[in-house]
Amino acid sequence: MTQDSLQQFAHEKLVRLEAQLLQRELVITDRIAPGITRRGATQLISFACNDYLSLSRHPDVIQASEEATRRLGVGAGASRLVTGNHSLYQRLEAQLAKLKGTEDAIVFGSGYLTNIGAIPALMGRSDLILMDEACHSCLYSGARLARSRIFTFKHNDVGDAAELLRLHRNEYRYCLLLTEGVFSMDGDRAPIAALLKLANEFDVWLMTDDAHGLGVVGDGRGSNIDAGTALPVPLQMGTLSKAVGAYGGYLCTSRAVADLIRNRARSLIYSTALPPGTVAAASKALEIIATDKALVRKPIERARLFTDKLGLPTAQSSIVPLLLGSSERALKASEHLQQAGYLVVAIRPPTVPVDTARLRCTFSAAHETADVEAFARAAAEALAAV
Ligand SMILES: *Cc1c(COP(=O)(O)O)cnc(C)c1O
Repeated sequence: MTQDSLQQFAHEKLVRLEAQLLQRELVITDRIAPGITRRGATQLISFACNDYLSLSRHPDVIQASEEATRRLGVGAGASRLVTGNHSLYQRLEAQLAKLKGTEDAIVFGSGYLTNIGAIPALMGRSDLILMDEACHSCLYSGARLARSRIFTFKHNDVGDAAELLRLHRNEYRYCLLLTEGVFSMDGDRAPIAALLKLANEFDVWLMTDDAHGLGVVGDGRGSNIDAGTALPVPLQMGTLSKAVGAYGGYLCTSRAVADLIRNRARSLIYSTALPPGTVAAASKALEIIATDKALVRKPIERARLFTDKLGLPTAQSSIVPLLLGSSERALKASEHLQQAGYLVVAIRPPTVPVDTARLRCTFSAAHETADVEAFARAAAEALAAV
């Protein structure tokens, strides 16, 4: 039984993707040293990893993970509400709450699982969700699972969000406003203070996704830090998989909301807890982020050196997009840079809007200034060549 209709369905879809240059492929990539990757026989300096502080390779982080694995095993054995809630979780959640200035924190299996679990646990059919149009796929997934009415507002446009609220807020019971602290494909920051003001005015709950802010902006504490003080954003989610270098997701919030989430978020309740070694690694990495201020400043310094060299607007985070427009140009530019010894990935629709294919360059503490300068020259050449 080959189920011909299934095979044909898959084949036709793939042919269509290929024709549009939108087919994706998994390439074997070993991250063999901080900032260095190997693809096949080729060693490349990577400007494509989210391990902004190279904490995934930090000796103390690895040691903490090894010790926890030996003591408690490689797997958690059950979901957190059953027997998977090992002792390392408590410390990690306390660290997160302290770093973010919230009463409580909950750790999920990943950032994706956090968004698809927390949003539907709070919102329902008679509610309204307003989201920045550039929000990450998993925020959209979470919003759809909530079955609420969804409106998107123009990217970082507080006026547009206000207009939508004036038009629609009264038709719904509760309203959630979703944004990213640092936008994953654009590298710019959300106007969180202004959004919080708007949210308070319309009795809207603000939720920020800080996947790319933690460990990089706000002295490492993330995008809710505004001129040194923590903005009281009521729902702050993020991931332990990027600058933290491990895996997992979190939501920092009040005690009551956290308790509700523990009772209601399906992706927390019905999914196995994180491995002890992963939680121990995240915990050690957060300790480093909270104390090593020189380290957390590096990714942005490197990104700014790059934007200076190329005459681009000053980087606001560790992410700098180089817009190419068509998928073809983005793929060619990426290929060009690979020939020059650099790994930068072409980001194409549907990850980004049509006609905004780009190279997404990410900078990390592992890059030396000389690497960044040489990369800037190579990037300028690649842009001119395609
Ligand atoms: C990566 C990312 C996520 C998902 O986090 P994972 O821990 O990788 O599942 C969520 N939101 C944004 C903005 C991201 O960039």
